[in-house]
Amino acid sequence: MSNDVSNVDSRKSWIRQPIVVVLGHVDHGKTTLLDKIRGTAVTKKEPGEITQHVGASIVPASVLRKVAEPLKKYFPKVKIEIPGLLFVDTPGHELFSNLRRRGGSVADIAILVVDIMEGFKPQTWESIQILKERKVPFIVAANKIDRIPGWKSNPDQPFLETIRKQSPHIVNRLEELIYRLISQLYEAGFMAERFDRVKDFRTTVAIVPVSAKTGEGVPELLALLTGLVQRFMKKRLVTSDEPGKGVVLEVKEEPGLGTTIDVIIYDGVIHRGDTIVVGGKDKPIVTKVRALLMPRPLQDMRAHEGKFVSVEQVVAATGVKISAPDLDDALAGSPIFVVSSEDKLEEYIKLVREEIESIRIKTDNIGVVVKADTLGTLEAVVEALKRENIPVRLADVGPVSKNDVLEASVSEKQRPEYGVIIVFNVKVLHEAEEYAARENVKIFRHNIIYKLIEDYIGWVKQLREQEKAKELESLIRPGKIRILPGYIFRRSNPAIVGVEVIGGVIKPGYPLMRKDGMRLGTIMQIRDRDNVLKEARTGQAVAISIRGRILVGRHVDEGDILYTDIPKQHAHLWLTKYKNELSDDEKMVLKEIIEIKKKQDPFYGLVFGG
Ligand code: GDP
Repeated sequence: MSNDVSNVDSRKSWIRQPIVVVLGHVDHGKTTLLDKIRGTAVTKKEPGEITQHVGASIVPASVLRKVAEPLKKYFPKVKIEIPGLLFVDTPGHELFSNLRRRGGSVADIAILVVDIMEGFKPQTWESIQILKERKVPFIVAANKIDRIPGWKSNPDQPFLETIRKQSPHIVNRLEELIYRLISQLYEAGFMAERFDRVKDFRTTVAIVPVSAKTGEGVPELLALLTGLVQRFMKKRLVTSDEPGKGVVLEVKEEPGLGTTIDVIIYDGVIHRGDTIVVGGKDKPIVTKVRALLMPRPLQDMRAHEGKFVSVEQVVAATGVKISAPDLDDALAGSPIFVVSSEDKLEEYIKLVREEIESIRIKTDNIGVVVKADTLGTLEAVVEALKRENIPVRLADVGPVSKNDVLEASVSEKQRPEYGVIIVFNVKVLHEAEEYAARENVKIFRHNIIYKLIEDYIGWVKQLREQEKAKELESLIRPGKIRILPGYIFRRSNPAIVGVEVIGGVIKPGYPLMRKDGMRLGTIMQIRDRDNVLKEARTGQAVAISIRGRILVGRHVDEGDILYTDIPKQHAHLWLTKYKNELSDDEKMVLKEIIEIKKKQDPFYGLVFGG
């Protein structure tokens, strides 16, 4: 199946190429694997077969057949029915996010690349999370098997061939490494097994050991993708020559063409001259396709010609560049629909508007502000925040403006931890930056989603700890002291006496009370000979000065026991929120204080529901 018109006219419906994406942690070999697969597609294709699309590459059925040839003895029954596989060229989950489709993804299946020597890394976990959320099935490419020390490379051979040529201890090492992946996948919520041992592909994720560098295992990877989609996804792959549906992968400036959109068409047909509706910054854009552009085949490249050739129509599945007026405000990640007839236009506009409004957020709630470069990444960031129960006040595509700071500052005044702007891959306008500094609005930026969220959460934790430390510092702790006989230095104004701390702690500023609950004044200073102390704990003997209503000899006397006078509110916090912040010794003193206080206030120290 090529993208030429002539093949289509004779039939109304066909099975399209499944759309495949490659995800995984940075440096685990996504790009190398895609290059290898593309290389295979180019060298083994039949003459005239188009493999290069815009933003995607096709591995045609003829290539799949050739690659699967040596596997015949292992899997004799595999028959290739799909016209090929369409690989999205840019790996990683930022672009994957843009392959969004309400409640799912335009991608039919994914390859999760894991460096077998390293195992799972943060972006591996994040990729799995996103695949789960978008309900995309996947297989695991356990990459870089050639790096297992002692591995003998057999370029481009099937894994099942090359493994037979390795020595037993290498085979064992490989098994260990695969086992690690199996347990990590289990942790992520998936049953997994080496592909040739999987009994039920609906319940078990297949792991294919590969080397993107030498090509070992790549035949099985392609055969497995083919087999799985043919077995479980045929219905999803049926399309017909109805008006095309797609998604905007990227919005790009092209010299001589202005703003163009690179789209993946997953359903139907799109012609030059068709009316299309696509999501825009302020409202859906309605425009007419001026040109459908495909990459110019390499052999036809001449200096004076552009990189693209114009075609009359393309059919699903395909990656194509669309040139049309008014695309400046188009949003990556937005749906694109071909309008079948004039009277359907309003319906399509509504569809696009609703879909975009379902991702953007604009509320009066207290929550963070999110700005991202595309609808897809915006949705992914918002989803990641939701997973962490972080409320969002505003979420939109575009650079950070003064208005965003204003919105964040509203949250900041009530809940400082939410008075922030979370920025993915967009600029912060200069005036916004200055305004944010003035308004105490913190801006978080990163071009990896999980890092962005991690940075923010780390900061919130710090903030909460600071707040907690501040609140704790403001609470009066339980303390019990005895006035030492023979150490009355001054009787009043302020009274200065020697005391021994019998339990808990005393600090300057703490009010004191007698055993019968009578308030005595506040500790001014604590001294140990010439040293002024910040506090004194159990066992310490110190001199304290007491300001306020106290006359030694009248209100208190040598040998008397005094307590810190803990306000009811503080006692409540000690018994609830901060009950783990008191030492056993302080807890005992608190109990005694509660007994004293209860005589004046029966509700003192009562904790309901706790
Ligand atoms: P990406 O960030 O996931 O796209 O990773 P790349 O494809 O850029 O690969 C990162 C590095 O690993 C590069 O230096 C590659 O040459 C190397 N690499 C990728 N796959 C393999 C492999 O199968 N074997 C070996 N030995 N190196 C590999």
